[in-house]
Amino acid sequence: MILLEDVNRIFQVGGQPVHALAHVNLEITQGEYLSIMGPSGSGKSTLLNILGLLDRPDSGHYLLDDKDTTTLGDDQQARLRHFRIGFIFQFFHLVPRLTAADNVALPLVLAGMPVRERKDRVAAALQRFGIANRADHRPDQLSGGQRQRVAIARAVIMNPSIILADEPTGNLDRASGEEIILAVESLRAEGMTVLIVTHDPNIGNRADRAIRMVDGQIVADDRRAP
Ligand code: ADP
Ligand code: MG
Repeated sequence: MILLEDVNRIFQVGGQPVHALAHVNLEITQGEYLSIMGPSGSGKSTLLNILGLLDRPDSGHYLLDDKDTTTLGDDQQARLRHFRIGFIFQFFHLVPRLTAADNVALPLVLAGMPVRERKDRVAAALQRFGIANRADHRPDQLSGGQRQRVAIARAVIMNPSIILADEPTGNLDRASGEEIILAVESLRAEGMTVLIVTHDPNIGNRADRAIRMVDGQIVADDRRAP
């Protein structure tokens, strides 16, 4: 379970404080599918980065399964992130000089998995997301949709419990975007919690729960009728 208690994040921009997150309270149950919408600059990415332990609140608490992450050191946070959280970004964030297979393998290499086991796991993930025939291609040899599928394979290769997707279709054409959404939604079958930031109401309204942010605050939190 995810629990944010009165989380604040303030950036100093040109000597002025910007409340990227202002008094955010949020509880998310394991396995929920949430969308986050709101205007540009409303704090969506800041919220995702804090949930993903890429950033820390300036005040307030972030509890992950009853454990207060704000008291953890950077190394402990990094370990938690590595095993529990998968990220998907708008611009893919793949390593340009590595093949698709090596990009997907990267988290397993960091986890010290033996090469044999790694190969099987990566092959299965590439297969699952329909890019097995692109295993040896570098990112610049792939379409946007293919790059994002590589990024999804990498995000799930450690079998995380939380998937955080920040505008994953923002740089894709409609057809590729739809494929990506279906791939992300397929992760729910494994009980993963899925959070997706999007500008597209058609995507946002597919989630079980739609959060709306304005000026660093959650201004709406709608659950779709079951
Ligand atoms: P969104 O993802 O909804 O577009 P962000 O979370 O990226 O919004 O940003 C929220 C606010 O915080 C914006 O005003 C943005 O300019 C500011 N902000 C975000 N990250 C930083 C940063 N690293 N340094 C300074 N200001 C930032
Ligand atoms: Mg953003």
